[in-house]
Amino acid sequence: MIIDIHTHVGDLRRVDMMDRLTVTWERLIKRLDKERIDKAVFLPLGASPESSHGPFLFAPNPDVISQLKTARKYRDRIISFGNLDPRMGCAGNLEPDQVGNPPEADFSWIIERFIELDCAGIGEITANIAMDDPRMINMCRQCGTFGLPVLMHCTGPGRGVYGLYDEVGSPRLETLLRQSADTILIGHAPGFWAEISGNIKPENKFIYPRGPIETEGSLPKLLRTHTNLYADLSANSGLNAISRDRAFGIRFLKEFQDQLLFGTDVCYGDEKGKIPTLTYLRNLLAENAIDQNVFDKITGINALKILKL
Ligand SMILES: [Zn+2]
Repeated sequence: MIIDIHTHVGDLRRVDMMDRLTVTWERLIKRLDKERIDKAVFLPLGASPESSHGPFLFAPNPDVISQLKTARKYRDRIISFGNLDPRMGCAGNLEPDQVGNPPEADFSWIIERFIELDCAGIGEITANIAMDDPRMINMCRQCGTFGLPVLMHCTGPGRGVYGLYDEVGSPRLETLLRQSADTILIGHAPGFWAEISGNIKPENKFIYPRGPIETEGSLPKLLRTHTNLYADLSANSGLNAISRDRAFGIRFLKEFQDQLLFGTDVCYGDEKGKIPTLTYLRNLLAENAIDQNVFDKITGINALKILKL
């Protein structure tokens, strides 16, 4: 079974991109059929202001819940995630002794509602806060209590665009992995994948660094030490990371075959929006660069395992 771990539906266009086609449910299913993908994990957007552009707010279903209700119509092909923002959850007025140390938000009520809507995980998280912010750790721990993995958009340090930020070497990701050791965390995006290589600069965590990988970065080391870390191969960031240095990429796919998840993150419904990651993996299989077992784990078995399906 082939599962795309990272899909969206809706109007994700920025105002300078209005010539692009949006992803509708019909276009998503059609693409799955064409690429011979059995199921897709649907990640609703709209939980965090950083991921909401004007066109999204004025299109149908600009909120997480109405997207999830629509997704249920496509249950045979779609596995839904809920979405949260770690900053949610005002606990009301503080007692005098709580000033300066407010209680942590309780996400259990909303997580239970997500589970009633058949959600198998939470994400993608796009809040532009530190990856080890106490609110992020709190939210991840609670998702783990319910057995739900958390998928994160990761970016570099400083004033970012959107996503959880971290410095070179991923110190904050390491803290989050330790502090929420019972939660499966799925990393994605340039801030995560730039770390496949050592000797990077902060600015590399916002882009798609090219060229051979001379020394391994923090990502392989963290995958080796933290069994709760999974890596989402979607988008240009994931595909670039495994293909920029073909030999290194093949070794990486083999070593971490139990922690990698095939995905696309297609955001537009046109030809230009396609992400050829599955073709890349199928070609590696056809050339015997990876074997069928590795291919099957990365494209489906690992997802079935962590989503408990
Ligand atoms: Zn995405």
